[in-house]
Amino acid sequence: MLQAVQSFNVEDTGDNMRSLMRRLFPICRSITGEGVRETLRILQEHIPLEIREVPTGVQVFDWTVPREWNIRDAWIKNSEGERLVDFRRLNLHVVSYSAPVHQRMRLAELKEHLYTVPHQPDWVPYRTSYYKESWGFCLSENQLAQLNETEEYDVCVDSSLTSGHLSYGEYLLKGTEPGEVLISCHICHPSLANDNLSGIAVAVELARHLASSPRRYSYRFLFIPGTIGSITWLSQNEDIVSNIRHGLVLTCVGDPGNITYKRSRRGEAEIDRAFVHVLKQSGQAHRVIEFSPYGYDERQYCSPGFNLPIGAMMRSPHGEFAQYHTSADNLDFVKAEALVDSLSKCREVIHVLEHNRFYINLKPKCEPQLGRRGLYGAVGGSTHTKDWEMALLWILNLSDSRHSLLDIAERSGISFSVIADAAKVLISKELIKEVQGKSGLFHPDGSRSAEVDSPGHTL
Ligand code: ZN
Repeated sequence: MLQAVQSFNVEDTGDNMRSLMRRLFPICRSITGEGVRETLRILQEHIPLEIREVPTGVQVFDWTVPREWNIRDAWIKNSEGERLVDFRRLNLHVVSYSAPVHQRMRLAELKEHLYTVPHQPDWVPYRTSYYKESWGFCLSENQLAQLNETEEYDVCVDSSLTSGHLSYGEYLLKGTEPGEVLISCHICHPSLANDNLSGIAVAVELARHLASSPRRYSYRFLFIPGTIGSITWLSQNEDIVSNIRHGLVLTCVGDPGNITYKRSRRGEAEIDRAFVHVLKQSGQAHRVIEFSPYGYDERQYCSPGFNLPIGAMMRSPHGEFAQYHTSADNLDFVKAEALVDSLSKCREVIHVLEHNRFYINLKPKCEPQLGRRGLYGAVGGSTHTKDWEMALLWILNLSDSRHSLLDIAERSGISFSVIADAAKVLISKELIKEVQGKSGLFHPDGSRSAEVDSPGHTL
């Protein structure tokens, strides 16, 4: 009878996500290149995603698909031929998209191309230069301290920038009804764990769970390079966009911080309300932040020409944890419990979206007699609480085709899963039936109706 989110083996699921991250961690990814393809091929062992290739030079709105970047090796060697900075030991050592270079130079000249994290002497920063051709090395302060002014260094970046492709992964799980949910994560960072790999791991696991569950919506998973990937996808799929009902960008979902949900640009879209409801009901500390045009791919999905109902889920927001974009964002920083909790929240939110429908009370004149139907006091025995009976009463009262189950959950303060279970029982007793919602309270574009502010409304 219960519709609550199917449970899963927490330990196995956490292990699956951690082991996928361990496997992907050493790969040198960027916004294009073999590292992205290798990553996508590994994901294909878990979910049957399609790898799409968009050629260099293709115009995507105001942008152009860039040249493909690949790298084989890079180093800074001293006169003894010793590698003081070695790409093969840590791929963060090379500024992503560095142009090829092989020169001998002294520290004074080399310094213009070196980056460190000054306040963390052991950490190596992560830097990129995608759209301005240059080269550079990232190293720790301790490594920098070993370089001296008199030595001549052998500096090499063995990379290529050539006409090629931008690669991304797409996996569509078909549903039974029209409408899609878009789940998007970025795959363009090299050896960083929370920023990029955690989102990939949760998305893959979510896709596997959804693939084995009945579903009303279709789910489209995108594994794309940040910014240019979502711009490219949007520019090539404008015909699909109108079908997107809800969406989530997953980023930085594995650190031990509390969950942060960033609202869509619409602010009160169903995905926003569903996420906020799940977080409130969880009783866990969390943060809900307003949309801003900075962050990950929600910037593109929520640009005014699309304005999609897509929010972003993260734990500690980028830039608010010290390890962000440094070598300290490693596998130790990401916790299995945090990954599992992030996955659980996504599944609960999807449960809300899947079951949020409108009903009409078939016996609306006074309350129907619940006791006679075995619905009051006795139903479900000891597992049902006061919430259960209140859920029945709230649903009967508000099922006028203008209030969805999420409206009822929000207004009653009862968790959506209890409301959804109670609705199922009321349907079986022929006390309510599903109707096309009139969306009296919420327009399809997510904005609140003027009716909300009219006298008498206390929502
Ligand atoms: Zn990043």
